[in-house]
Amino acid sequence: MPSKVYYTSARCTVWDSSYSLPFKYDQLLLLAGLKKYISPKEKVAVKIHFGSQGCFRTVRPVFVRKTVDAIKAAGGRPFVTDTTRIDSLEYLEVAAYNGYTHLTCGAPVIIADGLFGKDAVTVKVPGAKHIQEIDVASAIYHADAMVVLSHFKGHIQAGFGGAIKNMGMGGVSPFTHCGHNNRGRLHSVSATPPEWQKGKCTFCGRCEKVCPTKSITIKGKESLKVNKDLCWICGRCARICPAEALAMPITSERLAIHIAEASKAVISTFKPKKIIYVNFIMEVQPECDCMPVADTPLVQDQGILISDDLVAVDRASLDMVNRAKPLPQSRAEDYGLKEAGEVLSKVNKRDTNITIEQSEKYGLGSSNYELVEFESEGKAGKSEEHI
Ligand code: SF4
Ligand code: SF4
Repeated sequence: MPSKVYYTSARCTVWDSSYSLPFKYDQLLLLAGLKKYISPKEKVAVKIHFGSQGCFRTVRPVFVRKTVDAIKAAGGRPFVTDTTRIDSLEYLEVAAYNGYTHLTCGAPVIIADGLFGKDAVTVKVPGAKHIQEIDVASAIYHADAMVVLSHFKGHIQAGFGGAIKNMGMGGVSPFTHCGHNNRGRLHSVSATPPEWQKGKCTFCGRCEKVCPTKSITIKGKESLKVNKDLCWICGRCARICPAEALAMPITSERLAIHIAEASKAVISTFKPKKIIYVNFIMEVQPECDCMPVADTPLVQDQGILISDDLVAVDRASLDMVNRAKPLPQSRAEDYGLKEAGEVLSKVNKRDTNITIEQSEKYGLGSSNYELVEFESEGKAGKSEEHI
């Protein structure tokens, strides 16, 4: 039986707030049966990505607030959360800059793995090929239920980022208790760190700036060192190097397996039917929200999708983006893309299907889905009362 994916379009053609996306989202949450996933007084994690300095195209705070309100209406006790990527105190500042505060979200905004990114619980992944165990952020591990809000967009390594990546990468802490690299292992897209080829290097410094772990040190115009103990093997430096001076054989399958295995670990910490996934296909920029930039959208806003199957919700989102016409004045135009089809694969030079295929292989969900479309019938009712 196909998994149900509830969808409402971003279009609004009627001069009435109940036809506008935030109010249609209220209705979509009801239609998707949010209440079924939450019991009274349960602590419910609202997992989002806080974004980065420079990356402002994240899930808009109004939708986080709407989610929080719906959880409270269902009797749950929500908190808004993400795992550490940079220093936790700085990351909370980033969250505030991007609009996520207790005041705007209507619930506490906390770091899931604590002030030092080490507050996590080790979880085993039975049958895993690469990641036999991983540290799941404690606030997620101990939560009773979770609503995963994902901004659907491109990704430098996986081709796209949605619910699967938000769970796998976003649900685990960057470090283990003993300080070893946890999330970094997931990011590895190659078997080895980059090899510097001095003859090609122009010492432009871009790799040093983009490295998330500060593993690269450049001295004048003489040397470049990669700290192989710190390196996540994420491939960002090799990807942005204009001189192809950092050699790194990259494989998308390896990353997809890691994400699937980590997602499996995070899901295993919840009872069945306690997680629901919401994908926002809006401001679909080419890069992940962890990058220090946000380019113009590649396709027009499509809307919101909800499912309790994370593979189905990502498959449906990807299909929708693939069917959308690339927008002018975007990176799609830079690549000469004018017709619909695989825009995220093409601009990121990655096979976007691999993450979905691997996740399905690991039994995380099904790519066989049924789209249940919702459109407002103009019954503003409760929605109007909010104005
Ligand atoms: S980005 Fe490439 S060219 Fe620039 S400093 Fe790094 S290795 Fe050298
Ligand atoms: S692959 Fe490059 S960017 Fe990534 S952590 Fe290693 S040195 Fe830094």
